[in-house]
Amino acid sequence: MQAVTITAWMGEIAAAVRAERDHLTQLDAAIGDGDHGVNMNRGFDAVMKALAVQDGALPPGRLLIVVGKTLVSTVGGASGPLWGTALRRAGRALGDGTEFDGPALVGALEAALAAIEELGAASPGDKTMIDALAPAVDRLRDGIEQGQPVEVALAGAARAAEEGARATIPMQARKGRASYLGERSIGHQDPGATSTALVMRALERAVSDAP
Ligand code: ADP
Ligand code: MG
Repeated sequence: MQAVTITAWMGEIAAAVRAERDHLTQLDAAIGDGDHGVNMNRGFDAVMKALAVQDGALPPGRLLIVVGKTLVSTVGGASGPLWGTALRRAGRALGDGTEFDGPALVGALEAALAAIEELGAASPGDKTMIDALAPAVDRLRDGIEQGQPVEVALAGAARAAEEGARATIPMQARKGRASYLGERSIGHQDPGATSTALVMRALERAVSDAP
């Protein structure tokens, strides 16, 4: 995989969050402040603009650092700094090479997850984006360790993220705005976990469609 994989990934995320913007906003209206779809849409539109003016020679890790900085500076909600820091860390983990393989992708997503856990001080079961990302990273690592082609391992990871997002429905939120609702947060799917599943499905598409 190369820099074009990262650009394709961001394009797939931007398209998916635009298509799902109203759904994400509805989910956030139920247990938050109703801006998650707008936040993600604004952030990834800004990412596409930032990538369009990058010199084509930037290695994939550097591109992810640009993506992360753009998200931090354009998204007001909690999801901006969380995803921004996560993708910046993922970029740092990839380093300056022009190509990356499955194990390097696992390392980058592990770094992203660690950044979100650290910055958000949340753990699995707190009804956040971590409940989608952690099982996705686990599934990806297992697939790569078992020798699966990256796109097959990523298909499993995207499915794990979607299952993880659905599994937030019966959870009570312990972090973020939804935690203010206490028990009333039970019975609603977490918006951040839902968009995280879109991010993982976008990665699977970007890698599967790569030339
Ligand atoms: P805000 O909550 O500031 O309005 P968004 O609506 O964009 O921001 O994002 C809300 C999502 O962010 C939640 O659904 C949850 O998944 C995620 N989130 C909120 N706080 C945390 C946290 N401390 N750790 C991890 N994820 C969090
Ligand atoms: Mg919100």
